[in-house]
Amino acid sequence: MNKFLGYQCSICNEEFPFSNDLYTCPKDNGNLDVVLDTATIRRKYEISDIISRREESLWRYLPLLPINDPGGEGTPIRTVGFTPLYTPVIIKNALGLRDFWIKDEGRNPTGSFKDRASAIVIARAIEINAEIIVTASTGNAGAALAGLCAAVGRNAVIFAPKTAPPAKIAQLLVYGAKVILVDGNYDSAFDLTIAASKEFGWYCRNTGYNPFTAEGKKTAAFEIWEQVIQGESVNQKPISVFVSVGDGNIISGIHKGFKDLLALGWLEHIPRIFGVQSEGSAAIANAFMNSLATHRGKLKKVMQMIGSRIFLIRSLRKTNGTTRF
Ligand SMILES: [Zn+2]
Repeated sequence: MNKFLGYQCSICNEEFPFSNDLYTCPKDNGNLDVVLDTATIRRKYEISDIISRREESLWRYLPLLPINDPGGEGTPIRTVGFTPLYTPVIIKNALGLRDFWIKDEGRNPTGSFKDRASAIVIARAIEINAEIIVTASTGNAGAALAGLCAAVGRNAVIFAPKTAPPAKIAQLLVYGAKVILVDGNYDSAFDLTIAASKEFGWYCRNTGYNPFTAEGKKTAAFEIWEQVIQGESVNQKPISVFVSVGDGNIISGIHKGFKDLLALGWLEHIPRIFGVQSEGSAAIANAFMNSLATHRGKLKKVMQMIGSRIFLIRSLRKTNGTTRF
C-alpha cells in the first residue's frame, strides 16, 4: 500500500513528489513535511486495527508511517517506543491535578527519545539501499543512530563537536560508529554532514533536515493518544502535553502525530502543547513570547531567524500552547 503522497514545504506550502535525495524545499530551503495518504489509510484501517496490534514498540503504528517494515527482529530496533507511563500520586496531589502522567523515554534502547527518529530514518535507509548514514550530534541523536545502525548492520558516521561530552563520544564508539570530532560547534558539524552527504551519497539523518525524523518523533503522539486519550476516563476531556523543547523538533514531531490522527478522524481535538525550557537556556521561549507580543510581519522575521524551528512555533500556536507559565 502506498501510504505516502509526497512532501509539503513548511514555508511556501508547495508539494513535491517523493525523491531519495530531497531533504528541504529546493525553492526556499524550508523544512518538508511528509504528507500521508490519509484517505487510503482510513479506507483500510480502523482504530481497533491499530491498537490491537501485538508489537509493543513504535512498529505497531507501521500502517501510519511512510516506510516499510525494516526487519531486525530480535534486535533493539524492534524495542523502540511504546514507552511506559507513570502516574506518580505524590506529584499529582502536590500539583492538585485529577490526572497526571509521565512518559519514560529513557526506556528506549539507547536511552533517549532520539531512538524514535533514528529507527524511522534507518527504515528509510534500508528501503533506499543506503549503507552509510551520517548525522551531526552532540550526543543523544548520534548515540541513537549508532546503536540502532549496529543493531541492523548499517554504518553510522557521526560528526560531533569536539566539546561534546566524552561519555557520549564513548557511547558512539562502543556502538562501532565512525566518529569525526569537529573543531567547531554543532552548526559546523551540521554543515559538514550536509557536505559529506552530497559528496559521498551518504544518507543524512540530521534533525530539522531529514523529514523522516519527524515521522519517528510523531509516534510519541500516537502513544499518548492510545495510552491516554483512548482511555475511558479522559476520552471526552482535553489534555495538555508538556514537552522539553530541545532543538525544537520534538514538539513539531509530536504535533505532526496529532495532526495525522486528526486528519484520519481518529482524534477530536489536538491537545495543547507546552514547550518547556530552563530559564538559563530559553531562546525558543523568548522568541515565542516575543512573537506573541508583536505583529504578523515581525513574527515572520522571528521565524526566519530561528530557521527550522518554524515548525515548533507553529505547533505551539496551533495548539494554543505556550512556553511560559
Ligand atoms: Zn518552500
